[in-house]
Formats: sequence, structure tokens, C-alpha cells
Amino acid sequence: MPGAEPPDAAALRALARRFADERVVPLAAEIDRTDRIPEELLRALGTAGLLALGLPPEFGGKPASTRGLSAVLEELAAASAAIAVTVAVHLSVCAQPVARFGTPAQQRAWLPALARGERIGAFALTEPGAGSDTAGLETRYRHDNGGFVLRGSKTFISNAASAGLLLVFATRDPGLRSKGIAAFLLPGGTPGLTVSRRFEKLGLRGSETAEIHLDDLRLPAEALLGREGEGLHVALGSLVGGRIGIASCALGVARAAFQEMRAAVRRAGSEWARAALARAYAEYAAARALVAEAADRKDAGEPFETEASVAKLVASRAAVAIASAGVDVAGEAGVTGTAVAGRLLRDARVFPIVEGTSEIQELILGRRLLEPGDGAGPA
Ligand SMILES: Cc1cc2nc3c(=O)[nH]c(=O)nc-3n(C[C@H](O)[C@H](O)[C@H](O)COP(=O)(O)OP(=O)(O)OC[C@H]3O[C@@H](n4cnc5c(N)ncnc54)[C@H](O)[C@@H]3O)c2cc1C
Repeated sequence: MPGAEPPDAAALRALARRFADERVVPLAAEIDRTDRIPEELLRALGTAGLLALGLPPEFGGKPASTRGLSAVLEELAAASAAIAVTVAVHLSVCAQPVARFGTPAQQRAWLPALARGERIGAFALTEPGAGSDTAGLETRYRHDNGGFVLRGSKTFISNAASAGLLLVFATRDPGLRSKGIAAFLLPGGTPGLTVSRRFEKLGLRGSETAEIHLDDLRLPAEALLGREGEGLHVALGSLVGGRIGIASCALGVARAAFQEMRAAVRRAGSEWARAALARAYAEYAAARALVAEAADRKDAGEPFETEASVAKLVASRAAVAIASAGVDVAGEAGVTGTAVAGRLLRDARVFPIVEGTSEIQELILGRRLLEPGDGAGPA
């Protein structure tokens, strides 16, 4: 079971809460209404060091345990889920994979700009015909003049339109499935990269989600991250850690929804509203413990895949359940205009889909629970 928050995580939480109160809370409704994150807010995140968390200090990173990063994402998400997801994607599935899988030259080339927030990171795996079935992607690459040429489309890519670096996955032959995939570091603005549309979403408005095309796009040999044929290992290795990040974002929304509900029940709570509040608290507290457990195991160097899936599954469901109950308690005020309760519900509803849907987490867990020997779950 997770213990008290370690000092480094408590300090990062305090930093993120101050930043959220001063810089994010005043803009949260506008970010949702306009579906845009102001440039200066992204710059301020970089200046505060919140885009450098967990990256190597020699490349401008700021030391952070997984528990610390989780605390930061929870605090940011309680203020604006869109901001938290933008940071989570930048760090967990772009900058940290460069630190983990990159050569020293790739780390030198990319990490300082990512840590300062001069380049925002994106992770481009999903395709119009390949979502949960990650090995089924069809974006192709071929060798050309010592480098690579990429062709295909990616969809529902967070941060894509303004990304300074995209971690992109392509296959040399779709028939090879997982064995054909390679990961590439694609600088934003490379000729042949176009953003074809930006999606209008139910929730997480402000966190940009776009479709991109790679039209015979040329990359040098040094753009390859890891080895050819090992791209899915890079993708799934990044997503497992990313799940704790998304669970932390969902936890922040669950907490904000609980706090909003508590204020409404204090103002005019009936017996059933108090019972709903009690259920909401129990769901939030359970999710909080599971997210902390997954983060602590990762920090201790222990296997954490099972715990990450459980945390993502439970925290995203808790966010939806609490935010939904919050709208019930708020009544008509919860569904009008830009009501906070309504926004939290719309934001919460996206978490069961991103970084592996709830059904995919259940598939992963079902497999792990039935592994022979010391499989996951109680002996
Ligand atoms: C806001 C948002 C941001 C995103 N950001 C990114 C990003 O930055 N990078 C990126 O690469 N992708 C991103 N995605 C894509 C996301 O990861 C996919 O939407 C997700 O993996 C599901 O893929 P799909 O939408 O194609 O659904 P599908 O895979 O087509 O699944 C549809 C439904 O069927 C279920 N299902 C599928 N297969 C099975 C199975 N074998 N058993 C049981 N049920 C199954 C799924 O759970 C889901 O409910 C984002 C999505 C959203 C909504």
C-alpha cells in the first residue's frame, strides 16, 4: 500500500498547486469555451519547470519521481484537464521516451528544447484504421538515400498541430505486424507533414487533437528512435508509464468534481445528496490510493504494469462517476452554459478512451491475472 507522499512529491504538488491557482484557474473556463490554450500559459509552464519533470538534469530536466509527476498532473487537472493532458502527453509519451530510448546525440538534440517548453511533444501512434489494435498500423516507411521516407495518416493526435517534436510510428510492411514497426523523431514543420483537421471534442477542449498526414516525408537516419522492428516496444513501453499520468489527470478531475459537489451539498444538500457525496469520496479515495501505488512501484523499480492498468481503469471510471453525480446534485445549474460541473463531466468522459481504453485495460488485466505462477492478483 502507498505510504505518505514523499517530500519531493509534496514539494512538486505545492509548486503545481500554486501555479494552477495563479495561472490556470483564472483561464480554465476560457480554455474550454475557446478550445485554445494561450501561448503564454504554455511558456509559463516551461518557465516554472513543469515541462522538464523527470528529464535528465544534464539536458535541462528537473528531477521528479513518478509520484511527484503524478501529484503535478493531479493538481493541474483539478484546475484544467486540458492543461494537464497537454503536459502529460509532452512528458510521458514524448520527452521521457527520448530520454529512455534515445542515443546520447538524440538526447542532446531534443531534450533541452523539450525541457524548456520551446518544443511541445506529441505521440503519433493511432491511425484511422488502427486504434486499440496498435500492431495494425499502415503508415509506411522505406529506406531512401541513407535516410527514411514516411507516408500515411495519423488521427486523434494530442498536441499535434503545434508540436515541435512528434514521436511517430510507421511500419516497413503491415504484414509483419508488430515486427515491422519503427519509431521516428519527426520535427514539427518538416516538409511533407500537414495537419488536415483539428477535432472539436466533447471534453478536454483546449487540448488540441488533430489528424496529420505524412506525404512522402523525408527523415535523416538519425531520426530513428531505437531499432527498426522495435517501434512497438518503444510505443507500449511509453504508454504503460503514460497510463499513470492519465490516471493522475483523471484523479485531478475526480477531486475537482468532488470539491464542486461538496460545495453544492453544503449550500443546499438533502439526505440523498449527502449519500451521493459519501459515495463520491469513497470512489475518489480508492482511485487516489491506486494511482499512488502504481507510481510508487514504478519509482521502486518494481513491475508496475498491472497497477498502472488498474489505476487508469479505476481513476477514469471514478472521474466519470463523480462528475456525473456532481451534475445530478447541481441540477439544472450543472448543465447550463459553462457550468463547472458540466465541464468536469465532459472532461472526465474522455479519460476512459485515451492511452488504452477501459476495455483494453480489462483485456490486459485479464491476461495478467491468469498468468501461470506468480501472476498478478492475490496468491
Ligand atoms: C482526446 C483524445 C486524445 C488522444 N490522443 C492520442 C495521442 O496523442 N496519440 C495517439 O496515438 N492516440 C491518441 N488518441 C487515440 C486513442 O488512443 C484511441 O482513440 C484509442 O486507442 C482507441 O482507439 P479507437 O478510437 O480507434 O477505437 P477502437 O480501437 O476502434 O475501439 C472502439 C471500441 O471498441 C473497443 N475495443 C477495441 N478492441 C477491443 C477488444 N479487442 N476487446 C474489447 N473491446 C475492444 C474499445 O475499447 C472501444 O470502446 C486520443 C484519443 C482521444 C479521444
